[in-house]
Amino acid sequence: MEESTDTPLWRFSTMKLGGEARRLCQPQSADELIGLIEQLKRNSEPWFILGGGSNTLVSSEGVNGTVIRMTQMTRLATPEPELLIADAGARLPHLAKYAAGLGLSGLEFAVGIPGTVGGAVVMNAGAHGSCMANVVESATVLDCRSGKITEMNNADLQFVYRNSAIDPNTQVVLSARLRLKPGPEEEIKKITQHNEEYRWRTQPLGWPNLGSTFKNPSADKSAGLLLDQSGAKQFKEGNAAVSAIHANFVINLGGASSTEVLRLLRRMQEVVFEKHGLHLHPEWKTLGNFSENLADIWNGES
Ligand SMILES: Cc1cc2nc3c(=O)[nH]c(=O)nc-3n(C[C@H](O)[C@H](O)[C@H](O)COP(=O)(O)OP(=O)(O)OC[C@H]3O[C@@H](n4cnc5c(N)ncnc54)[C@H](O)[C@@H]3O)c2cc1C
Repeated sequence: MEESTDTPLWRFSTMKLGGEARRLCQPQSADELIGLIEQLKRNSEPWFILGGGSNTLVSSEGVNGTVIRMTQMTRLATPEPELLIADAGARLPHLAKYAAGLGLSGLEFAVGIPGTVGGAVVMNAGAHGSCMANVVESATVLDCRSGKITEMNNADLQFVYRNSAIDPNTQVVLSARLRLKPGPEEEIKKITQHNEEYRWRTQPLGWPNLGSTFKNPSADKSAGLLLDQSGAKQFKEGNAAVSAIHANFVINLGGASSTEVLRLLRRMQEVVFEKHGLHLHPEWKTLGNFSENLADIWNGES
């Protein structure tokens, strides 16, 4: 298992910001991960799970504990023709293309989501009218309190819009069983490619970001449109800015701090509340020690 101390985390977040983790561990197998968590529990040390870091705002003040990064656990298996089993660290874009190459349909939506299978199960990641809930048959989950490994089926996972029943503070997704449908390979590849190209047209992919900042307040109200109508595309705090391409994307112009990003999030929430009377809730998770009060942004009512 790769291990290091006082490790800068900005490299492991798609936002390219974040201070140091006191310790970073990157297990390569479920056995290594289980051994590590047992050891941390014995020593009563805090630990945090990180996937691809594509939906997590890492504090510039760093993380006082062990960050367990899952991206080295990447095995894929197809024990049945329509069943793909993917380790938690496998990346969705790779998985979507792998499935397309096998003539399996169901993951076309995931090609532009730069996260891991574990993070995608936790967040019920979705796009282009589909989401993980439609393909996950079950997930193998370590319950860190009891040390037991259980198979949680689709109903147990309680998928809802950008959330699931998995609590990353006490549960770790080790792998997921994805039930796909056979189809014409060329057609599946075409849709996958179309979805990938659509991203390049509509999202600021040249700048470090964490995808959508806020959840849509309802199925017929898009956070991006509300922000755009409220004039948020002009907003900037230090080196963090709202993207001119997509008002629900915050970009790092280079050297942004988590404090600047949080200030921007507050302004975005305030302007939408002022203009539309709606409180936007962040989609992102946070990692590390923040001096600011996060509760008003994550739970508040503006
Ligand atoms: C350019 C861009 C486009 C995006 N587009 C979309 C989109 O279209 N749709 C969408 O839904 N999201 C999108 N996202 C957001 C993000 O990619 C997804 O939410 C993704 O599922 C997060 O996966 P991750 O591995 O990066 O998670 P991380 O950010 O690393 O973690 C997210 C949460 O999951 C937990 N976690 C991670 N792995 C595990 C595990 N194995 N077990 C338990 N807990 C775990 C973490 O502790 C954290 O709480 C986008 C992001 C970017 C940067």
